[in-house]
Amino acid sequence: MAADRADYLVIGGSAAGMAAAQVIRRQAPSSRVTVLSEEPDMPYFRPMIPYVVTGRKKPEEIGLQGNGPYTAGGIDVRTGSHVDSVDVSRKSVAVKGGGRLSYGRLLLATGSRPYIPPEIQGTDAQGVFALRKLSDAREMARRAGDTNSAVMLGGGLLNLKATFALLERGVKVTLVVQSPEVLSQLMEPGDAGLIRDALDKAGLKIVTGRSAKGIISGKNGVAGVSLDDGSEMACGMVCIGKGVRPNIDFLPGSGITIDKGIVVDKNTACSTPDIFAAGDVAVTFDPVTGKRIMTGLWTNAVEMGRCAGYNMAGKKTAYAGTFGIMNATQVADMPFVSMGIVHTKGSDHEVHVRASGSTYRKVVFSPDGERLVGALFVGDITGAGMYRYVIRGNMNIGRIKPRILDGTLHYGHFLKG
Ligand SMILES: Cc1cc2nc3c(=O)[nH]c(=O)nc-3n(C[C@H](O)[C@H](O)[C@H](O)COP(=O)(O)OP(=O)(O)OC[C@H]3O[C@@H](n4cnc5c(N)ncnc54)[C@H](O)[C@@H]3O)c2cc1C
Repeated sequence: MAADRADYLVIGGSAAGMAAAQVIRRQAPSSRVTVLSEEPDMPYFRPMIPYVVTGRKKPEEIGLQGNGPYTAGGIDVRTGSHVDSVDVSRKSVAVKGGGRLSYGRLLLATGSRPYIPPEIQGTDAQGVFALRKLSDAREMARRAGDTNSAVMLGGGLLNLKATFALLERGVKVTLVVQSPEVLSQLMEPGDAGLIRDALDKAGLKIVTGRSAKGIISGKNGVAGVSLDDGSEMACGMVCIGKGVRPNIDFLPGSGITIDKGIVVDKNTACSTPDIFAAGDVAVTFDPVTGKRIMTGLWTNAVEMGRCAGYNMAGKKTAYAGTFGIMNATQVADMPFVSMGIVHTKGSDHEVHVRASGSTYRKVVFSPDGERLVGALFVGDITGAGMYRYVIRGNMNIGRIKPRILDGTLHYGHFLKG
């Protein structure tokens, strides 16, 4: 790439990067906005890649450009452009394969990548996946056509999504979870009963309290998995879902402050002038606890990316922070939402649970009972947005507490002050 210059340069063309680029495009119509993305594909909706595995969607059907809010033209998106380093004194970045691009303002929106535990031997075998990119989805779809069994390592939400994609393809799936229960980051084992029942009914075999030691390879790649209890499971493919790590490898020596991810202030600015960060790679703050936090959610990345876009274009905008956990989704047709503090075992939080055969609603208050700090709803997620509003606002709930408890909370309660 020849040396050139962008007024606004974005590294990472996904939720945060494209949301920022759209805002900048509108705020500064005559500026040069360039997005560098290492992926070969044009930006797409990452949460939809499981549908590429199932075959329900074609890659071209999940593209970002021209969809929903992603309509602003005049954004120069360069795919296959991996940034190797950032030189903050020269205000430029080095792109793999040669070339340097200078910037007026820079956004780091490089997201995260799957964590592959080094203690699992043989993860480089053909047929071992970690579903993160569209290219992974294509490869998984191909492999799923050639095998009838898979072992999934990790019981988090993303691996469950991959699991259901394979089940839909008719692949027999076994999920191996180290924790005592699935979705352990989003709920405590005692809260997961309804979801566990739904997973069992969907035909998923779940092995808890076990971890993988190694991948067993044959002439066609993966042939099985060996577990820490000495047992072995035969399978034709493996998917690893053991969490993610921020993409910051290109930043050492740049002087930008890192604390696991890229540390930003309330206006999404980094420690170095004219550089901002947003999305999975950024370390922001939790409005409930006030602590530094990183999250892995599309919605948060978009919101933060937009905020960064405004700040970069000169319209100072504070980011409202993000929850420890905020996830509204469904597994095995069972909707659930988990937000704020939901792990309460051994803590002095005030916890209330209402459960029926098909619903489970847990609300968590601060130890003095005056603030709502978390909620977990399974089966019935009615009003979740309002609970989110109350948690995020860190408000003293006073007389609306009974409404929070009986589920009759509505926006009118706030209009009345
Ligand atoms: C299968 C799956 C399902 C999901 N489902 C949901 C869901 O239902 N709801 C939800 O809220 N979230 C979901 N997520 C999470 C969501 O996709 C992420 O939180 C979101 O994509 C983060 O956006 P981002 O812009 O911060 O980073 P990313 O989407 O990770 O994008 C960062 C981009 O930067 C590129 N990059 C990295 N380093 C460099 C470099 N040095 N040079 C150039 N480019 C670089 C990466 O390749 C990538 O293209 C899901 C994720 C996956 C994988």
